[in-house]
Amino acid sequence: MRIFVVGGAGYVGSHCVRRLIAGGHEVTVYDNLCAGHRQAIDPQATFVEGDLGDPVQLDGVFEAGRFDAAMHFAAFINVGESVTAPLKYWHNNVANTLNLLQCMEAHGVKRFIFSSTCAVHGEPEDLPITEDLAIKPINPYGNTKAAVEWMLQDSAEAWGLGSVALRYFNASGAAEDGTIGEDHHPETHLIPLVLQVPLGQREQIKVFGTDYPTPDGTCVRDYIHVNDLAQAHLLAVEDCPAGKAEAYNVGTGNGVSVLEIITAAREVTGHPIPALTTDRRPGDPPTLYADAGKIRHRYGWEPRYRDVRELIETAWRWHKGHPHGFADK
Ligand code: UDP
Repeated sequence: MRIFVVGGAGYVGSHCVRRLIAGGHEVTVYDNLCAGHRQAIDPQATFVEGDLGDPVQLDGVFEAGRFDAAMHFAAFINVGESVTAPLKYWHNNVANTLNLLQCMEAHGVKRFIFSSTCAVHGEPEDLPITEDLAIKPINPYGNTKAAVEWMLQDSAEAWGLGSVALRYFNASGAAEDGTIGEDHHPETHLIPLVLQVPLGQREQIKVFGTDYPTPDGTCVRDYIHVNDLAQAHLLAVEDCPAGKAEAYNVGTGNGVSVLEIITAAREVTGHPIPALTTDRRPGDPPTLYADAGKIRHRYGWEPRYRDVRELIETAWRWHKGHPHGFADK
């Protein structure tokens, strides 16, 4: 297939592009490089520097590309920023996605894989999280992702768009060969921040709250390796439902606490990694982990990285080799 990938220079997008190319697909990466990195783009992909906010350029790329499918990894992801600058999030995550969907409709492209999030459930009523739990986001970031899922449902009805929304849990890890990985500015995610301590870039890791109703008092999350996410994207695009909007959780099903991540990182790096307990970070639900039964049954998808130590090993290889991330900034 010829696949249009917006955000293919970013963290999850760049790993997915590699997987698509290894799977025999032709990929065009469209990215404005506001958060992505030129060096993260697979050299076998065609790269167009461009913005979803430019419908004329987008139309030209679709005209030339004759795509079979599109994937979207180009959203803003910082929950805290979404609270203080919600319109920035509605503009990029919703209005720009609308531009893309309009372009797809105009060019008859009817397969779409969308990067969604478990944050569409907010503080879930039940655990593990299944896809049919209430959609009740608790911040603007989650609202924008839920809004796009609604657009996908309406588009399925009206013009036959077939889509898969993959609801990521905590995307982590890096390519096995250590050549691409996570490089966010600012970095807010736990694993890269923990690894900044053995890199000598941070004295200690802050633990945001030890008084949660969890086994060790710290928040529990479901850390899913970026290559496992990439595999889910490959399966979804190759067997995208016709004229229907579907949504799948992509997580391991294992809950891992903040302290367990720090312990695993100590084992992997051999560094003591001092930890300091601080106040809770506002808006963090105590426990989130997936029921990934739906994607397993539909696509035969299974996570390959079940042990967080293996996942952290891949992240550590990337960060050790690129202590300041990609060189292009
Ligand atoms: N966390 C932490 N210290 C940090 C960064 C994160 O204790 O410096 C905690 C955070 O409160 C959450 C978990 O680690 O419980 C995962 O946070 P992250 O931002 O990586 O992902 P989120 O689950 O918020 O999407």
